[in-house]
Amino acid sequence: MPTALLALKKSGGLIHYYVFEYANKNESPVERVKSKVVKRLYHLDVDFVVQLGRIVRTTGPNRHQVVLDIRVNSYGQKHFAHENVLYCLITKVPREEFAIKKKLMEILACPIDKHHPLELHVFEEKEEIVEGLIVCPKCLRWYPIRDEIPEMLPDNLRKENEDLPFLKKWKDKVPEEILSKGKPFALKTGSKKS
Ligand SMILES: [Zn+2]
Repeated sequence: MPTALLALKKSGGLIHYYVFEYANKNESPVERVKSKVVKRLYHLDVDFVVQLGRIVRTTGPNRHQVVLDIRVNSYGQKHFAHENVLYCLITKVPREEFAIKKKLMEILACPIDKHHPLELHVFEEKEEIVEGLIVCPKCLRWYPIRDEIPEMLPDNLRKENEDLPFLKKWKDKVPEEILSKGKPFALKTGSKKS
């Protein structure tokens, strides 16, 4: 899998995205996965087409493994952090195969200063980390994990009105240093720092 993504150049490429999904009898697990991915990739301004989606196997009551073939046409030059985001998307495999936490932290670097390793704070965990925070100890930048996907975006793509509420929501669990001095947004000042 990592090889598949490393081959994904700025000009695009094909991602085979494997994921487990729950669905009720009257729902299509493929459509559920598709709508999540579409929402996320649109948000990130990635030009893509879902070419194919199917159930690989059913692993329990209403639980299916689904694969999507996602053709990524392009993601802009300034969106270099998408490599990280897509990497997370593609390596989001079930716990049975390996612990996402460990794997994630092995591969992720700060998109700003390339510092590695980063710190992980888990706020909500189901089969995977649903919500959490990734912190760069070098520059004190923090990156939210939302809907199980780490958003490793550069500052110019961050939205204060989306990110600050996230920090507020988890302020009891966020390290004090990040609350007061985190970048690109901190809670106490609420102002943008560079
Ligand atoms: Zn950093």
